[in-house]
Amino acid sequence: MISKTDPESIRGFLEDTSNLKSGHTPGVFFPETIAEIQELLKNAPREHRRFTIAGNGTGTTGGRIPFGDFVLSMQKLDAIGEPTVLSADRAIITVQGGAVLQDIQKKVQASGWLYPPDPTESLCFIGGTIANNSSGARTFKYGPTRNHIARLLVVLPEGELLEIRRGEMIADSNGEFHITLPGGMTKTIHLPHYRMPATSKHNAGYFSKAGMDLIDLFIGSEGTLGVIAEANLMLFPMPDSIISCLVYFPSMEELLGFVDACKKPANGLRPRALEFFDRNALTFLRKQYPEVPTAADGAVFLELEAAKEETDGTLDRLFVTIEASNGMEEESWIALDRSEQEKIREFRHALPLIVNEWLSRQKESKISTDMAVPDSAFRELFDFYRNSCERHGFVYIIFGHIGNSHVHLNILPRNREEFVEAKTLYRTFVAKAIALGGTLSAEHGIGKLKREYLADMYGEEAIREMAEVKKCLDPFLVLNIGNIIPDAFLEPDNH
Ligand SMILES: Cc1cc2nc3c(=O)[nH]c(=O)nc-3n(C[C@H](O)[C@H](O)[C@H](O)COP(=O)(O)OP(=O)(O)OC[C@H]3O[C@@H](n4cnc5c(N)ncnc54)[C@H](O)[C@@H]3O)c2cc1C
Repeated sequence: MISKTDPESIRGFLEDTSNLKSGHTPGVFFPETIAEIQELLKNAPREHRRFTIAGNGTGTTGGRIPFGDFVLSMQKLDAIGEPTVLSADRAIITVQGGAVLQDIQKKVQASGWLYPPDPTESLCFIGGTIANNSSGARTFKYGPTRNHIARLLVVLPEGELLEIRRGEMIADSNGEFHITLPGGMTKTIHLPHYRMPATSKHNAGYFSKAGMDLIDLFIGSEGTLGVIAEANLMLFPMPDSIISCLVYFPSMEELLGFVDACKKPANGLRPRALEFFDRNALTFLRKQYPEVPTAADGAVFLELEAAKEETDGTLDRLFVTIEASNGMEEESWIALDRSEQEKIREFRHALPLIVNEWLSRQKESKISTDMAVPDSAFRELFDFYRNSCERHGFVYIIFGHIGNSHVHLNILPRNREEFVEAKTLYRTFVAKAIALGGTLSAEHGIGKLKREYLADMYGEEAIREMAEVKKCLDPFLVLNIGNIIPDAFLEPDNH
C-alpha cells in the first residue's frame, strides 16, 4: 500500500473548504483494496494509530482535516460499475467510496439514467457525500443522498466488514440494533432518544428515529462509525426535457409569493430545484454579469422536469406564475437547451468564486450559516438574518435552497473586529433557528467546526448518547475522532 510522509504530498490533506487551520498528520495512506482498509484499522490499536478519512476535500466543516492522526485517503478506491436495470423506472449502480460524483453522473446519464444528488461541487467523492448525507438544489424534489442509497459496504473501526441492504435491518421496539459481524462478534447499538427537527432537510448528528433502518445510521455519520467502502446507488430515468429559469423580483414579498406558488401542488409546476439569491448576492454577481437588473431585490432559480408532450404546457404555467407574482419577465432568463442551461449553472457557480476572491483580498474567513427551519418560520429567520446584519453594518449575502426553507447567510468580514463580532452573532442565529424548530445544519454537517453548537440543539444528554453509539462501534477510538462529538464526551468517565 502506498503511504506518503513528505510535507509536499501531505499538504493538500490538511485542508478542505472550511479554512480551518493548523491541521497536521504524520502521514497519508492510500489503500487500493477494501482488505487494505481493514488491515489498517485492525492494526490501529496495536500500533497506536488513529485515522481521519479523506474524501476529495470539498467539505465545508473541517471533517477531513486531521489533528495529529494519520489520513486514510479514498483516492484509489474509485471504481464505478455499470447501471443494472431493475424496471422501466429503476436502475442501480455499484460504486466504490472514492469514485468522483461527476464521473458517476456522466456515466449514468450516458445510459439514460439520473443520480439526483447534486451538491453543487461535483468533484466530491461519493463516499464523502454519503458520509455527509449531502444534498443540494435538486433535493427539493428528490430528497438528500440518504434517499438514494440501497446498500452500503462499510469497514467498521475495528476492521470488520459490514454489508447493509436497505430494508434488512430495522431498529427493534426498544430502539436497538443487534448486529452479528462476519467474525462472530456481536454489537448492540442503542439509538439516541432525541427527536430530530421537523425540517425538510437535517444533517446534524446521528440520524435517530423509531423503526429506522440501520443504513440510515451510517449515512450522515461523517466517517465516525466506519469507512464507506462501496455503495449501491438508486437511479431514476432521465427526464425528457429540463427547463431552467432565473426570475428577478422587485421585492421580497413578491419573490416569496412566487416561491409559495411554485410549491403548491395544485399549480402543477413541481420544480426539482428552487434556489434563491438576495439583492447583495446579485450585486456581487453583477460584477461579472452586468445584465443583472439593479431594480431586483432578489432572484429565484428554478428547474423543472417535463415529458416531451408536456413541455409547452409547463412553460405556459411557468409564465402565468411569474406574471401573477409580478416577476420581472423582461429580464428573466429561460433556458431550454443544454448549452444555455450550462450558462445558468455557471452563473450560479460564479457566486462562491466571486465572493471567495473578494474575501481573499480582505484576508478574512467568512462566517456562514447552514440552518433550516420549518416552512412556516422561514420569513422570521430570514428577517432576523437581514436585520442583524444591517444593524452591524456587515457585508453579507443570503442565497441557497429556499424551496427547503434553507438559505445560507454568509457574513464577509472586512477585518478581524468584524470577524469576531460576526462569530458572536452566529450563536444568536443558532439560537433563533433552534427556537423556531429548526436545525443547526441542514446539509453541510457538523465536522469539527460546529460541534460546540450541537448541545445547544439537542442538550448534553443527547451528545452522551451519540458518544455511546460511537464507542460501541469504535471502542478503541480509532476513526475520525473530533467530528460531530466533542472530545470530552468520548472520555471514559463521561457517562
Ligand atoms: C462550492 C461548494 C458548494 C457546496 N454546495 C453544497 C450543497 O449545495 N449541498 C451539500 O450538501 N453540500 C455542498 N457542499 C459540500 C459537500 O457536502 C461536500 O462537497 C461533500 O459532501 C464532501 O465530499 P468530499 O469527498 O469532498 O469529502 P471531504 O471533504 O474529503 O470529507 C468530508 C467528510 O466526509 C468524511 N468522508 C469522506 N469520505 C468518506 C468515506 N468514504 N467514508 C466515511 N467518511 C468519509 C471525511 O472524513 C469528512 O468528515 C459544497 C461544497 C462546495 C465547495
